[in-house]
Amino acid sequence: MSFFPESNRTWQIIHDAAKRNYAVGGYCVQVLKSASSCYNTDGVLAVIRAAERCRSSALIQVFPWTLHFHGPPFIQYIASAAHSASVPISVHLDHCLKPEDAKLALECAFDSIMVDGSMFDEEGNIEYVKNIVEKGRDKGITIEAELGRMEGGEDGLPNIEGSLLTDPHLAKEFVEKTGVHFLAPSFGNVHGPYPSGGAEKWWQLDRLVLQLEAIYKSLGSHTPLVLHGTHPCSEEMLRVGIENGMRKVNQNRTVRKKYMEFLAGESKSLELTQLQERGVQIYSEEIEAMMVVLGSAGKA
Ligand SMILES: [Zn+2]
Repeated sequence: MSFFPESNRTWQIIHDAAKRNYAVGGYCVQVLKSASSCYNTDGVLAVIRAAERCRSSALIQVFPWTLHFHGPPFIQYIASAAHSASVPISVHLDHCLKPEDAKLALECAFDSIMVDGSMFDEEGNIEYVKNIVEKGRDKGITIEAELGRMEGGEDGLPNIEGSLLTDPHLAKEFVEKTGVHFLAPSFGNVHGPYPSGGAEKWWQLDRLVLQLEAIYKSLGSHTPLVLHGTHPCSEEMLRVGIENGMRKVNQNRTVRKKYMEFLAGESKSLELTQLQERGVQIYSEEIEAMMVVLGSAGKA
Protein backbone atom coordinates (compact mmCIF):
# COMPACT_ATOMS: atom_id res chain seq x y z
CA MET A 1 0.00 0.00 0.00
CA SER A 2 1.39 3.41 -0.90
CA PHE A 3 0.89 6.66 0.94
CA PHE A 4 0.23 10.19 -0.29
CA PRO A 5 1.51 11.58 -2.60
CA GLU A 6 2.70 8.26 -4.12
CA SER A 7 -0.88 6.99 -3.95
CA ASN A 8 -2.15 9.88 -6.07
CA ARG A 9 -3.01 9.11 -9.69
CA THR A 10 -1.57 12.32 -11.19
CA TRP A 11 1.60 11.88 -9.13
CA GLN A 12 2.01 8.30 -10.43
CA ILE A 13 1.41 9.33 -14.05
CA ILE A 14 3.86 12.25 -14.01
CA HIS A 15 6.57 10.44 -12.06
CA ASP A 16 6.43 7.50 -14.46
CA ALA A 17 7.05 10.01 -17.26
CA ALA A 18 9.98 11.45 -15.28
CA LYS A 19 11.48 8.03 -14.66
CA ARG A 20 11.19 6.93 -18.28
CA ASN A 21 12.02 10.27 -19.87
CA TYR A 22 8.86 11.23 -21.73
CA ALA A 23 6.02 13.71 -21.15
CA VAL A 24 2.33 13.17 -20.62
CA GLY A 25 -0.31 15.47 -22.11
CA GLY A 26 -2.73 17.47 -19.99
CA TYR A 27 -5.65 17.78 -22.40
CA CYS A 28 -8.12 20.58 -21.76
CA VAL A 29 -11.61 19.39 -22.59
CA GLN A 30 -13.18 22.81 -22.70
CA VAL A 31 -16.89 22.61 -23.20
CA LEU A 32 -18.38 24.45 -26.15
CA LYS A 33 -20.60 27.26 -25.03
CA SER A 34 -22.33 27.55 -28.37
CA ALA A 35 -23.22 23.90 -28.82
CA SER A 36 -25.84 21.64 -27.39
CA SER A 37 -25.02 19.99 -24.09
CA CYS A 38 -24.58 16.69 -25.96
CA TYR A 39 -21.14 17.90 -27.01
CA ASN A 40 -19.89 18.29 -23.51
CA THR A 41 -18.49 14.82 -23.29
CA ASP A 42 -16.69 14.84 -26.66
CA GLY A 43 -13.34 15.94 -25.28
CA VAL A 44 -13.52 13.43 -22.45
CA LEU A 45 -14.27 10.57 -24.84
CA ALA A 46 -11.60 11.74 -27.29
CA VAL A 47 -8.85 11.70 -24.63
CA ILE A 48 -9.88 8.32 -23.23
CA ARG A 49 -10.22 6.66 -26.65
CA ALA A 50 -6.91 8.09 -27.88
CA ALA A 51 -5.13 7.01 -24.68
CA GLU A 52 -6.53 3.48 -24.77
CA ARG A 53 -5.83 3.08 -28.47
CA CYS A 54 -2.16 4.01 -28.25
CA ARG A 55 -1.57 2.80 -24.67
CA SER A 56 -0.76 6.19 -23.19
CA SER A 57 -1.46 7.77 -19.84
CA ALA A 58 -3.13 11.20 -19.87
CA LEU A 59 -4.60 13.97 -17.78
CA ILE A 60 -8.04 15.33 -18.57
CA GLN A 61 -8.09 19.00 -17.65
CA VAL A 62 -10.90 21.47 -17.11
CA PHE A 63 -10.92 25.15 -16.21
CA PRO A 64 -12.76 26.82 -13.32
CA TRP A 65 -15.26 27.95 -15.95
CA THR A 66 -16.31 24.33 -16.43
CA LEU A 67 -16.60 23.90 -12.71
CA HIS A 68 -19.05 26.79 -12.51
CA PHE A 69 -20.98 26.17 -15.70
CA HIS A 70 -21.54 22.45 -15.10
CA GLY A 71 -20.90 22.04 -11.43
CA PRO A 72 -19.40 19.13 -9.46
CA PRO A 73 -21.59 16.36 -11.04
CA PHE A 74 -19.82 16.90 -14.37
CA ILE A 75 -16.43 16.48 -12.68
CA GLN A 76 -17.77 13.29 -11.11
CA TYR A 77 -18.70 12.01 -14.55
CA ILE A 78 -15.23 12.79 -15.96
CA ALA A 79 -13.54 11.09 -13.01
CA SER A 80 -15.74 8.04 -13.31
CA ALA A 81 -15.03 7.73 -17.07
CA ALA A 82 -11.28 8.49 -16.69
CA HIS A 83 -10.75 6.11 -13.79
CA SER A 84 -12.56 3.28 -15.60
CA ALA A 85 -10.17 3.47 -18.57
CA SER A 86 -7.73 0.65 -19.25
CA VAL A 87 -4.77 3.08 -18.98
CA PRO A 88 -3.97 5.58 -16.19
CA ILE A 89 -5.94 8.80 -16.69
CA SER A 90 -6.36 11.47 -14.03
CA VAL A 91 -8.59 14.53 -13.74
CA HIS A 92 -7.01 17.92 -13.22
CA LEU A 93 -8.26 21.46 -12.66
CA ASP A 94 -6.16 23.99 -14.59
CA HIS A 95 -5.48 27.55 -13.39
CA CYS A 96 -7.46 27.82 -10.21
CA LEU A 97 -7.07 31.55 -9.58
CA LYS A 98 -9.57 32.21 -6.84
CA PRO A 99 -9.38 30.80 -3.30
CA GLU A 100 -13.15 30.18 -3.38
CA ASP A 101 -12.76 28.07 -6.55
CA ALA A 102 -10.01 26.06 -4.88
CA LYS A 103 -12.30 25.46 -1.93
CA LEU A 104 -15.02 24.14 -4.26
CA ALA A 105 -12.50 22.08 -6.27
CA LEU A 106 -11.22 20.34 -3.13
CA GLU A 107 -14.74 18.95 -2.66
CA CYS A 108 -14.86 17.61 -6.25
CA ALA A 109 -13.50 14.43 -7.78
CA PHE A 110 -10.19 15.93 -8.95
CA ASP A 111 -6.93 14.02 -8.71
CA SER A 112 -4.94 17.24 -8.94
CA ILE A 113 -5.37 21.01 -9.04
CA MET A 114 -3.22 23.74 -10.53
CA VAL A 115 -3.24 26.64 -8.11
CA ASP A 116 -2.53 29.83 -10.01
CA GLY A 117 -1.38 32.51 -7.56
CA SER A 118 0.08 34.74 -10.25
CA MET A 119 -2.33 37.52 -9.29
CA PHE A 120 -0.68 37.72 -5.87
CA ASP A 121 2.78 39.01 -4.98
CA GLU A 122 5.52 36.52 -4.11
CA GLU A 123 4.54 36.07 -0.48
CA GLY A 124 0.82 35.96 -1.33
CA ASN A 125 1.47 33.27 -3.95
CA ILE A 126 3.39 31.16 -1.42
CA GLU A 127 0.65 31.58 1.15
CA TYR A 128 -2.13 30.66 -1.30
CA VAL A 129 -0.34 27.60 -2.69
CA LYS A 130 0.79 26.34 0.72
CA ASN A 131 -2.75 26.55 2.05
CA ILE A 132 -4.22 24.51 -0.81
CA VAL A 133 -1.36 21.96 -0.68
CA GLU A 134 -2.18 21.35 2.99
CA LYS A 135 -5.91 21.04 2.34
CA GLY A 136 -5.27 18.85 -0.72
CA ARG A 137 -3.19 16.44 1.35
CA ASP A 138 -6.23 15.63 3.48
CA LYS A 139 -8.23 14.87 0.32
CA GLY A 140 -5.47 12.94 -1.49
CA ILE A 141 -5.21 15.68 -4.16
CA THR A 142 -1.80 16.78 -5.51
CA ILE A 143 -1.05 20.38 -6.48
CA GLU A 144 0.67 22.12 -9.38
CA ALA A 145 1.67 25.77 -9.13
CA GLU A 146 3.21 28.46 -11.27
CA LEU A 147 6.26 30.44 -10.24
CA GLY A 148 6.61 33.77 -11.99
CA ARG A 149 3.80 34.88 -14.27
CA MET A 150 2.81 33.85 -17.81
CA GLU A 151 1.24 36.27 -20.22
CA GLY A 152 -2.02 35.84 -22.12
CA GLY A 153 -5.35 34.27 -21.27
CA GLU A 154 -7.75 31.57 -22.46
CA ASP A 155 -11.14 30.02 -21.90
CA GLY A 156 -12.58 32.17 -19.18
CA LEU A 157 -9.26 33.17 -17.62
CA PRO A 158 -8.41 36.85 -17.32
CA ASN A 159 -5.86 38.24 -19.75
CA ILE A 160 -2.49 38.78 -18.08
CA GLU A 161 -0.16 41.42 -19.44
CA GLY A 162 3.56 41.39 -18.79
CA SER A 163 5.26 38.14 -17.96
CA LEU A 164 7.58 37.57 -15.04
CA LEU A 165 10.22 34.93 -15.77
CA THR A 166 10.79 32.26 -13.14
CA ASP A 167 13.94 32.87 -11.13
CA PRO A 168 15.56 29.41 -10.87
CA HIS A 169 17.12 30.36 -7.53
CA LEU A 170 13.70 30.94 -6.06
CA ALA A 171 12.32 27.59 -7.27
CA LYS A 172 13.78 25.51 -4.44
CA GLU A 173 12.61 27.94 -1.80
CA PHE A 174 9.14 28.06 -3.36
CA VAL A 175 8.82 24.27 -3.44
CA GLU A 176 10.10 23.90 0.11
CA LYS A 177 7.86 26.59 1.51
CA THR A 178 4.70 25.47 -0.28
CA GLY A 179 5.21 21.69 -0.51
CA VAL A 180 3.88 21.86 -4.09
CA HIS A 181 4.17 18.66 -6.18
CA PHE A 182 4.59 19.98 -9.73
CA LEU A 183 6.00 23.29 -10.94
CA ALA A 184 5.07 25.33 -14.03
CA PRO A 185 7.90 27.71 -14.90
CA SER A 186 7.40 30.95 -16.78
CA PHE A 187 10.05 31.34 -19.49
CA GLY A 188 8.32 33.54 -22.04
CA ASN A 189 5.50 31.08 -22.71
CA VAL A 190 2.13 32.67 -23.42
CA HIS A 191 -1.44 31.39 -22.94
CA GLY A 192 -3.85 31.33 -25.83
CA PRO A 193 -2.58 31.92 -29.38
CA TYR A 194 0.94 33.38 -29.55
CA PRO A 195 1.37 37.03 -30.54
CA SER A 196 3.41 37.88 -33.64
CA GLY A 197 6.71 36.02 -33.87
CA GLY A 198 5.08 32.89 -32.46
CA ALA A 199 6.42 30.60 -29.77
CA GLU A 200 9.86 30.63 -31.45
CA LYS A 201 10.29 34.29 -30.60
CA TRP A 202 8.70 34.20 -27.16
CA TRP A 203 10.29 31.07 -25.80
CA GLN A 204 13.90 31.74 -26.89
CA LEU A 205 15.13 28.15 -26.74
CA ASP A 206 18.67 29.03 -25.59
CA ARG A 207 17.33 30.94 -22.63
CA LEU A 208 14.81 28.18 -21.90
CA VAL A 209 17.47 25.47 -21.79
CA LEU A 210 19.66 27.52 -19.43
CA GLN A 211 16.70 28.29 -17.21
CA LEU A 212 15.54 24.66 -17.07
CA GLU A 213 19.09 23.47 -16.34
CA ALA A 214 19.28 25.91 -13.44
CA ILE A 215 15.86 24.84 -12.13
CA TYR A 216 16.83 21.17 -12.42
CA LYS A 217 20.05 21.89 -10.51
CA SER A 218 18.09 23.32 -7.62
CA LEU A 219 15.13 20.88 -7.64
CA GLY A 220 16.49 17.66 -9.14
CA SER A 221 13.85 15.18 -10.29
CA HIS A 222 11.88 15.66 -7.08
CA THR A 223 9.50 18.21 -8.61
CA PRO A 224 8.52 17.49 -12.24
CA LEU A 225 7.97 20.52 -14.48
CA VAL A 226 4.84 21.44 -16.41
CA LEU A 227 4.77 23.14 -19.79
CA HIS A 228 2.01 25.71 -20.41
CA GLY A 229 1.46 27.83 -23.51
CA THR A 230 1.86 25.35 -26.37
CA HIS A 231 -0.45 26.79 -29.02
CA PRO A 232 1.15 26.32 -31.35
CA CYS A 233 4.76 25.26 -30.99
CA SER A 234 6.86 22.95 -33.12
CA GLU A 235 7.63 19.32 -32.32
CA GLU A 236 11.28 20.34 -32.04
CA MET A 237 10.41 22.86 -29.32
CA LEU A 238 8.40 20.27 -27.42
CA ARG A 239 11.32 17.86 -27.73
CA VAL A 240 13.73 20.41 -26.22
CA GLY A 241 11.27 21.05 -23.39
CA ILE A 242 10.86 17.32 -22.66
CA GLU A 243 14.63 16.71 -22.81
CA ASN A 244 15.04 19.41 -20.22
CA GLY A 245 12.56 18.10 -17.71
CA MET A 246 9.04 19.05 -18.85
CA ARG A 247 6.92 16.06 -17.80
CA LYS A 248 3.39 17.36 -18.25
CA VAL A 249 2.57 19.27 -21.41
CA ASN A 250 -0.71 21.17 -21.50
CA GLN A 251 -2.68 20.94 -24.72
CA ASN A 252 -5.75 22.93 -25.53
CA ARG A 253 -6.49 24.45 -28.93
CA THR A 254 -3.83 22.59 -30.91
CA VAL A 255 -5.43 19.15 -30.58
CA ARG A 256 -8.97 20.55 -30.87
CA LYS A 257 -8.59 22.58 -34.05
CA LYS A 258 -9.62 19.95 -36.61
CA TYR A 259 -12.57 18.90 -34.48
CA MET A 260 -13.79 22.50 -34.29
CA GLU A 261 -13.43 22.92 -38.05
CA PHE A 262 -15.36 19.69 -38.63
CA LEU A 263 -18.24 20.84 -36.39
CA ALA A 264 -18.37 24.24 -38.04
CA GLY A 265 -18.43 22.70 -41.51
CA GLU A 266 -20.82 19.79 -40.96
CA SER A 267 -23.23 20.90 -38.26
CA LYS A 268 -26.01 21.71 -40.73
CA SER A 269 -25.71 18.59 -42.86
CA LEU A 270 -25.19 15.76 -40.35
CA GLU A 271 -27.40 14.24 -37.68
CA LEU A 272 -26.24 15.07 -34.18
CA THR A 273 -25.31 11.44 -33.52
CA GLN A 274 -23.11 11.30 -36.65
CA LEU A 275 -21.62 14.68 -35.83
CA GLN A 276 -20.62 13.42 -32.41
CA GLU A 277 -19.28 10.06 -33.53
CA ARG A 278 -17.15 11.48 -36.29
CA GLY A 279 -16.20 14.54 -34.23
CA VAL A 280 -14.87 12.40 -31.37
CA GLN A 281 -12.97 10.26 -33.88
CA ILE A 282 -11.26 13.31 -35.45
CA TYR A 283 -10.53 14.83 -32.03
CA SER A 284 -9.06 11.56 -30.71
CA GLU A 285 -6.82 11.12 -33.77
CA GLU A 286 -5.26 14.54 -33.11
CA ILE A 287 -4.69 13.64 -29.46
CA GLU A 288 -3.18 10.30 -30.43
CA ALA A 289 -0.71 12.06 -32.75
CA MET A 290 0.27 14.34 -29.84
CA MET A 291 0.79 11.32 -27.58
CA VAL A 292 3.31 10.00 -30.10
CA VAL A 293 5.12 13.39 -30.17
CA LEU A 294 5.28 13.56 -26.36
CA GLY A 295 6.55 9.99 -26.17
CA SER A 296 3.72 8.81 -23.91
CA ALA A 297 2.28 6.47 -26.58
CA GLY A 298 3.07 2.83 -25.88
CA LYS A 299 4.15 3.49 -22.29
CA ALA A 300 0.98 2.48 -20.46
ZN1 LIG B 1 -1.70 27.42 -18.47
